[in-house]
Amino acid sequence: MEAKHKRTVSRREKNRTLTIGGVTVSPGERTSVDIPLAAMYTHTDVELTVHVVNGRRPGPCLFVCAAIHGDELNGVDIIRRLLDYKQLSQLRGTLLAIPVVNVHGFLSQSRYLPDGRDLNRSFPGSERGSLAGRVASTFVRDILKHCTHGIDLHTGARHRSNLPQIRADLSQEETRRLAMQFGVPVVLDAKLRDGSLRETAADMGIPLLLYEAGEALRFDELCIRAGARGILNVMRELEMLPARKRPAKVPEAVVADDSRWVRAPLSGVMRSRVQLGARVKKGDVLGLIADPLGFKDAEVLAPDEAIVIGMTNLPLVHEGEALYHLASFKRQTGQVASELQGFHERFSAQEDEQPFFVGWDDSLEN
Ligand SMILES: [Zn+2]
Repeated sequence: MEAKHKRTVSRREKNRTLTIGGVTVSPGERTSVDIPLAAMYTHTDVELTVHVVNGRRPGPCLFVCAAIHGDELNGVDIIRRLLDYKQLSQLRGTLLAIPVVNVHGFLSQSRYLPDGRDLNRSFPGSERGSLAGRVASTFVRDILKHCTHGIDLHTGARHRSNLPQIRADLSQEETRRLAMQFGVPVVLDAKLRDGSLRETAADMGIPLLLYEAGEALRFDELCIRAGARGILNVMRELEMLPARKRPAKVPEAVVADDSRWVRAPLSGVMRSRVQLGARVKKGDVLGLIADPLGFKDAEVLAPDEAIVIGMTNLPLVHEGEALYHLASFKRQTGQVASELQGFHERFSAQEDEQPFFVGWDDSLEN
């Protein structure tokens, strides 16, 4: 009787009431909160908008944020789709979704803030610091301090695409578990960078995954689908969402041993010979560089067996420029290549199935 009684009590246990940016959000309530940031010099207000979904029942508090670099857009649409997901009505715990963190950079379509600083090198920031430092400090004070877990969404820089990948500090057990469950085949054990959100989260004991996919200032449907799906996978792993009735096969993730950039051996105009996700062997030609009237090509060669996880899309290159980001997996390269093939087929084969993403519900999907 005792045990039964206990279970009944825990079932009725209510989630906490959350106060964020001065707004109180009760269990079972869903709202958005605008937190003031530095106004523009045109006298126009600028606000950090946080969507709060506070579940009825207790559980982890997860933040999902995008556009810390103001020109990285895939994450903005990933969050829009996430917030449209029907099963959020059954959420346990709390979801804080911030589609645009660097609002100033987003307005100017720039990675940086108007003061030229990189927000992701300005954490934890300070209320009396630079513009970037103040935005960082607001984020820590009003969002991070509530959270138990986080997912930070990024893309490659301008003219550079990244294969969908998770970067995380895999020495932390919980972070590693979530990284492997996200559902992308490539995982990088990434060192913490000074001043990054990831570093501040780590200092606060918050496991954080960084999802990197696609290119700045562009939408990429596959990257967006895989990102939205990945967040749901993590939320299920954290038991914030009910388990799927028919468990889906999550692509097996493999941790890269190492990754390095191959740089341009000389300046010129490059024709690429490989695509993102390609498996290359030592000595394979990645690209050919010539001057515009040149008849002689210089070859850009793969230094080792690897998977191409990032590359430039701009054919105009200077000597020393980073062209191809290669990840090595030693004996597992073949496995990664085949996981990537399945991954690509899964997320690109739904061209006519947009309805899944309008008030979507994945119980119908495989
Ligand atoms: Zn970024």
